[in-house]
Amino acid sequence: MINYDWCAKAFRLHLMLPFLGGLSFVATSFNEPKVRIIGHPLIVIDPGHGGHDHGARGSSSLEKEVNLNVALRLRDQILLQIPEARVMLTRESDAFLPLPERTAIANTHNADLFISLHCNSNRNGQVRGAETYIMGLHKSGQNLEVTAMENGNQEDIGLDQLSMEEIIIFNQLQDQNLAKSRELAMLFHDQFSAVHPGGSRTTRQAGFRVLWQAAMPSVLVEMGYINNPSDESFLISDEGKDKIAKSLTQSLQDYLILRSRELATASIQPDISSGWRQ
Ligand SMILES: [Zn+2]
Repeated sequence: MINYDWCAKAFRLHLMLPFLGGLSFVATSFNEPKVRIIGHPLIVIDPGHGGHDHGARGSSSLEKEVNLNVALRLRDQILLQIPEARVMLTRESDAFLPLPERTAIANTHNADLFISLHCNSNRNGQVRGAETYIMGLHKSGQNLEVTAMENGNQEDIGLDQLSMEEIIIFNQLQDQNLAKSRELAMLFHDQFSAVHPGGSRTTRQAGFRVLWQAAMPSVLVEMGYINNPSDESFLISDEGKDKIAKSLTQSLQDYLILRSRELATASIQPDISSGWRQ
């Protein structure tokens, strides 16, 4: 899907580059230039689960509540720290929303990023730490465990379950977005490694229903293991939720600045025809 609004903006930027380049040179003469985020990228935040779907359980908390609480804090942080960005939540209350409708919201509004927030759970309760996932069809034992939990009663995704048309669409979306999704997931991973008391365990690909139809870079974040006592304490505390929201915001800002640099560079090429999502 081509975002024509972005094309127009990118083209206008292309026309202005000689002038902007001059300004940039002047700015660098005095101090390090502050890279600006181009345009007003839309970030859709998806608090996982809701309503009768509680998600994973801790000793005193439910995943759906932590997900929504962090999502609301994340929206506030983004609007505070990244004034150029726009933010939309797939749910703002304790409501059930089927998985396909969550990405449909992002697709309908031509979102530039889709972030699904979750808490993990493990049978023995000893595992802790954050994890980040991007869409893929890899089927390791660990991946199957977490996708089974997050996909709920909806089928796991395998190529054998998709029609030819769905596979073609899937491949197109993956080609367009996989590298950028991975880049954003790694930025989340780096931030979590610094601020999460349980650390950041990994970045993986897995077959999540909620990601697979996203027409933009998308990441599913497992913010910690809610059935691990130490992680649960972190996840339900105001301090912990604020740390998570701030670290995700920092990563999003870093990502948007990287993309803005690329867009500014691409716009001096003669075949400029794209925006954030291409
Ligand atoms: Zn979940």
